[in-house]
Amino acid sequence: EYREIATPVRTAEILSKYDLSAKKSLGQNFIVDTNILGKIVKTGEVTKKTTVIEVGPGIGALTEQLAKKAKKVIAFEIDDRLIPVLDDTLSAYKNIDIIHSDVLKVDLKAFEAEYLSEAEEVVLVANLPYYITTPIIMRFLEAGMHIDRMVMMMQKEVASRISASPSTKAYGSLSIAVQYYMDAEIAFTVPKTVFMPQPNVESAIIKLTKKSTRLTELKDETLFFRLVRSAFVQRRKTLWNNLTSVLGKDEHTKEVLAKALEQAEIDPKRRGETLNIDEFALLANALSDLNL
Ligand code: SAM
Repeated sequence: EYREIATPVRTAEILSKYDLSAKKSLGQNFIVDTNILGKIVKTGEVTKKTTVIEVGPGIGALTEQLAKKAKKVIAFEIDDRLIPVLDDTLSAYKNIDIIHSDVLKVDLKAFEAEYLSEAEEVVLVANLPYYITTPIIMRFLEAGMHIDRMVMMMQKEVASRISASPSTKAYGSLSIAVQYYMDAEIAFTVPKTVFMPQPNVESAIIKLTKKSTRLTELKDETLFFRLVRSAFVQRRKTLWNNLTSVLGKDEHTKEVLAKALEQAEIDPKRRGETLNIDEFALLANALSDLNL
């Protein structure tokens, strides 16, 4: 008799068999609803061509549903206690590799070379530990590895910030940092009742898709991200006030800034939150040309 992991009864059985309780400090909220898992896998467009990277398999609820549809699933789990559990719950699947490690410490370039060199299509799918959502996403994006899509459960408020458009309250450096690499949309929101234990916050599934073209190629990425952070230091201040207070108020800096803003055709009286990513890129490139 075959029973799926993601039901309240089976999950309770597994936890009791191994005398486990969910660790809050590791962001452990297990999904006990196969419908939601089906929607997540569908949003990831997972097929037999897909190699899936999963972060935090827990007791294997999502991993199992992914393994049914994917060519291969490679999952990073930090919690020692869960390694023998996963060995047991996922024993029927031959296309799963569990890597016992902290995903924030993995050398992703070495991982890509070892595990993904033959992969046709790579999709990251995860019910993330909420306390480290942003560092995990940024680490995968900044590693420069090839990932076609990312479908991730996170706190709804973080999902809103990641997918926000200019001139909205949620728009900020996180929106730009992520959307510099990927197109972002909230796929759907998720009720608390699908988790065991239930989290205190609202959750949503975000879908990130690799950008096919970037409008402006950056000359200096470090300068771009520094500029973006500076522009949002005080949301209600003008671009000019924020930039001069971070980059410098001396005559030379002001002169360079004024020239760069003019070249990028951006009014210094605008607020940072009104600039789209391409405008930030144009401004960063102008500053780079002027050797700021
Ligand atoms: N995927 C399972 C599910 O949907 O039911 C569990 C998701 S639970 C929200 C998050 C998982 O991430 C837990 O299994 C936790 O142990 C794991 N985790 C937390 N921090 C981690 C880290 N730094 N590296 C790898 N896994 C981590």
